[in-house]
Amino acid sequence: MDKLVSPRKTAEVLQKYDIKPNKKYGQNFLIDENVLSKILQVCDLSPQDHVLEIGPGIGTLTQVLCPRAKMVTAVEVDRRLISILQETLEDCRNLQLIQGDILKMDLQELLSQVSKERKCKVISNLPYNITTPLIMKLLEVRDPIETMVFMVQREAAQRITAGPGGKDYGAVSVLVQFYSKAETVFNISPRVFIPPPEVESSLIKITIRERLLYSVRDEKLLAEVVRGSFQHRRKSILNSLSASLKMNKGKLSELIKEAGIEPSCRAESLSPAEFANLTNFLYNIIGDNNRTKI
Ligand code: SAH
Repeated sequence: MDKLVSPRKTAEVLQKYDIKPNKKYGQNFLIDENVLSKILQVCDLSPQDHVLEIGPGIGTLTQVLCPRAKMVTAVEVDRRLISILQETLEDCRNLQLIQGDILKMDLQELLSQVSKERKCKVISNLPYNITTPLIMKLLEVRDPIETMVFMVQREAAQRITAGPGGKDYGAVSVLVQFYSKAETVFNISPRVFIPPPEVESSLIKITIRERLLYSVRDEKLLAEVVRGSFQHRRKSILNSLSASLKMNKGKLSELIKEAGIEPSCRAESLSPAEFANLTNFLYNIIGDNNRTKI
């Protein structure tokens, strides 16, 4: 099969199968060879690598991943595209195609299928509306993953990589930092896709940490504390957390102070280290076995 990445070839394939790109599935197909080769560089594949690709589309990226990896597993939700992929990628002997919605799959099970031998690399030109839930789901089962390279909406990249103090800093920024190192590698113009999306994109690389950035005694509680703190950004950390954890304000205020944090401050001013500290102080009261004591 010819290279799929050119505007001419992509248009030809879409026309041949009478495919109208589906907005609901965030279908914007890559048509720029330069961007494709820059993405490949960032993926840094070796012939032993196992890859999970999410949303292969007509196979533009998949076609160049297969010759550079040991195995590629590609998950595509749109049934119309599955039969196209079987044809466009018929030369790819190391490809496993799965039809399904990645958000509804058991990722632990899927990742164990992708590779039993070594950690895998997850790669995707992500449908924009599933970016955050998917990244959070992948981080929950992160052990079998080495890196994730994703094309995302520029604003999502800013939120994922933000540090404390600004408007982009939120629950996702904090949790992503605990589990990984995330960086924006480059920005991408809407013109390199058909149809062009309404927003700018960025390529991000997320490298899973061997150990959490700061140790916490209960990861679930960390997520609850971080999410609860940012639920109402304008409220103080005390008010947000007493609402989300359903805790008495007097007692909570004491605990927050014990953790070295001013109860009237807002979540956006807290560093990941402070969230870890706060979680560990709260753990004594509401962690695992103590939940009934609230
Ligand atoms: N990788 C291709 C296509 C990107 S468009 C390229 O770069 O050209 C995004 C792709 O993700 C589409 O093929 C879309 O059908 C697929 N997709 C959208 N939601 C999905 C989901 N929940 N699970 C799996 N695939 C999904």
